[in-house]
Amino acid sequence: MNEGFTPTTDSVDKLIQEFNKLPGIGPKSAQRLAYYLLRTSDEQAKLLAEAILSVKQKTRLCSVCFNVTEADLCLICRNDQRDRSQICIVEQPQDILALEHTKIYKGLYHVLHGAISPTEGVGTDDIKIKELIERLQGGSVTEVILGTNTNLEGEQTALYLHKFISPLGIRVTRLARGLPFGTELEYADDVTLTRAIEGRQEF
Ligand SMILES: [Zn+2]
Repeated sequence: MNEGFTPTTDSVDKLIQEFNKLPGIGPKSAQRLAYYLLRTSDEQAKLLAEAILSVKQKTRLCSVCFNVTEADLCLICRNDQRDRSQICIVEQPQDILALEHTKIYKGLYHVLHGAISPTEGVGTDDIKIKELIERLQGGSVTEVILGTNTNLEGEQTALYLHKFISPLGIRVTRLARGLPFGTELEYADDVTLTRAIEGRQEF
């Protein structure tokens, strides 16, 4: 956006600035969204504002797998039909959505909330690794599927986890290389993800 004079009001400017902070929203899109909301009904604007507040107030992380939930346990951890011998490790809660969409994985998950990245100062204590190791020591898990992203950070994290998990006598697999290097799971299509789950390999 141009610095200096802008023919908008403070409140519109503020809204544009807030939209501009969101991932994938550039200055033009931020303007478009702000002006869209100006034209929309009060009711619609209120619904949006309430949805944003509600997601912050009502949700928390599952006490077992760290997925997003509104109860102590998430829907997947609460589901008796899920296979408790398998845990798929992912970086972000939205990765679970992508994998669930394929409908072929029936095990549980563990969300790390990040990946090891020395360049960004993210170490092993900054993500949910300690919690994972504790979970695995329960003894009921026979396979861990490493579903971290296929970029540098995801690979580093997978290597680190493999080093810790394999001595526990648990089978460690990695999603197959149907996923191109650099892919973030949440953006992979169903077919690619299905192949990646089915073709997972010993790690
Ligand atoms: Zn859970």
